[in-house]
Amino acid sequence: MPGETMEAVVLLGPDEYEFQNDIPVPEIGPAEALCRVGAVAICGTDIGIMSGKFFPMWPPEWPFIIGHEWAGTVEAVGPGVSAFAPGDRVAGSSAVGCGLCRNCMKGRYNLCLNYGNMEAGHRQYGMTAPGAYAQYINANVRSLVHLPDSFDMPAASLLDTAGIALHIAKRGNIEAGDTVVVIGPGAVGSIAYQCASALGAGRVIVAGRGSRLEKAKEFGYETVDVNARDVMEYVKEATGGIGPDVVLECAGTAGTIVQAVEMIKKGGRVVVGGITQEDAPLPLRRFVLDEIEVVGSRAAPNCLPEVLALTESGALRLAELVTHRFPLTEFTAAMETFRNRTGGALKVVVEPNPDSGL
Ligand SMILES: [Zn+2]
Ligand SMILES: [Zn+2]
Repeated sequence: MPGETMEAVVLLGPDEYEFQNDIPVPEIGPAEALCRVGAVAICGTDIGIMSGKFFPMWPPEWPFIIGHEWAGTVEAVGPGVSAFAPGDRVAGSSAVGCGLCRNCMKGRYNLCLNYGNMEAGHRQYGMTAPGAYAQYINANVRSLVHLPDSFDMPAASLLDTAGIALHIAKRGNIEAGDTVVVIGPGAVGSIAYQCASALGAGRVIVAGRGSRLEKAKEFGYETVDVNARDVMEYVKEATGGIGPDVVLECAGTAGTIVQAVEMIKKGGRVVVGGITQEDAPLPLRRFVLDEIEVVGSRAAPNCLPEVLALTESGALRLAELVTHRFPLTEFTAAMETFRNRTGGALKVVVEPNPDSGL
């Protein structure tokens, strides 16, 4: 059993954080499990949260512990928990819906109508509820999946990101043999192109640059370097002038979203998976004349068991996306490596209990 206090990285305000070793270990409530964190992956969203630009949505208050892509081991469970027991290896999904609103009842708990309402039972760990840059996290068991032995903790900490990528690909309604363009092979995009293949795409074209695009090439995907080629022209040529059936936009810039809408085939579907704060004019006539569909994709509802199975089958390669590992005590170095993409950094994993043999 854990002691009464733990180590954690605590955000104190915009661009201000501290490593502390006397944070109270969270108390377990009904339907919750206290988990020892084995690995937590740094996410681009963490950088935004740390800068303060999402405050007071994420976090709702300072001080606050973030970190939402994690895996670990159950230490203790609260009242009413039977599906998980101490010693179980688990991975966490960041969001838990209230379970009672209309959207939750339909399974769309990523769009919970009680978002951020802790009293109603909604949680988004590392954003509205305490997260995993700590030795322990307290999580509702609805956010957990059991881990097979084949997963090590760093690879398992990528399951939430993988779920986000799968949800994006599923929102594309990919049909067998479709041509799919994936824009932006960052962490989510790198899994989204694998998901497109897993869902039956016949041809997947990855548009990006640098070491992240190299990774796609290494994995055997067709790539187009946006620094060397005009992507619109390349895709047009590659599709005989008609455009791709589906575009998965994972770069999250206004420019690439417009590009996706412009390149999509008549009757095709664009999924916007990257968040941008900017607005941009879109060719609206295409919505009617070409019956194009443009949809958004948020979080990873019900996707963790699915990406777990796809990873076990070999359809998704997650472990190879983990480029760096740091103990929690070296959080600053980990964050800088991620932020500066040092050494081709893609997924940088932080380990809060590095000597525990997890
Ligand atoms: Zn994330
Ligand atoms: Zn709800």
